[in-house]
Amino acid sequence: MYYYDATYILVILAFFLTLFASFGVNGTFKKYNEVFSSRGLTAAETARKILDANGLHNISIEHIAGDLTDHYDPKENVIRLSDATFNSTSVAAIGVAAHECGHAVQHQVGYTPIKVRNAIVPIVNISNRLSMPIFILGLILSIGPLAMAGALLFGMVLVFQVVTLPTETNASRRAMKTLEEMAILEGDELKGARKTLTAAAMTYVAAVAATALQFLRLVMLANRRRR
Ligand SMILES: [Zn+2]
Repeated sequence: MYYYDATYILVILAFFLTLFASFGVNGTFKKYNEVFSSRGLTAAETARKILDANGLHNISIEHIAGDLTDHYDPKENVIRLSDATFNSTSVAAIGVAAHECGHAVQHQVGYTPIKVRNAIVPIVNISNRLSMPIFILGLILSIGPLAMAGALLFGMVLVFQVVTLPTETNASRRAMKTLEEMAILEGDELKGARKTLTAAAMTYVAAVAATALQFLRLVMLANRRRR
């Protein structure tokens, strides 16, 4: 069985990469969720203020259950802030709220990587569904090119994650600029928010690295079937 292959080390490596990034963001969020802004706006109030300043009065702010489930939903025109964030006045929560506003502004201004990302979503979904069945079929039937086709389809997931990276770092950059310009946070508070957002960005970097390792493994396994 290919599961017991030596290339499995790549999967373990990918697992630890994502695990460390996840610990990183949880630890950093916890730390700066206990540092409160002197101005005392909650994350939800911050989001409202930033959205209004950008003329995005049509976007509402809702509460969502869960841990770090905060996101902007472009279809419903809603920013959803999680339990730990919504009513918090911490610099971490305010940073997250401002980041989600950054995504809303990206949609408003037609930020190119967002458009590219949206355009490839249907292709990525299909590739993602077909890649493993095709890959495994290729291995079972010992048809190298079929296995390779499955591996390459999985590569689309990697492409998607790589395109996601600039949208995340750009949303955080917009967030930090806004928090400073609108004087929502100041001095060390800004540093705390930045560290929180950097830790969050690292989870996306780790996801790219993990997917790249898995992709590499599939290509290696498919290649072996060629010989
Ligand atoms: Zn984001």
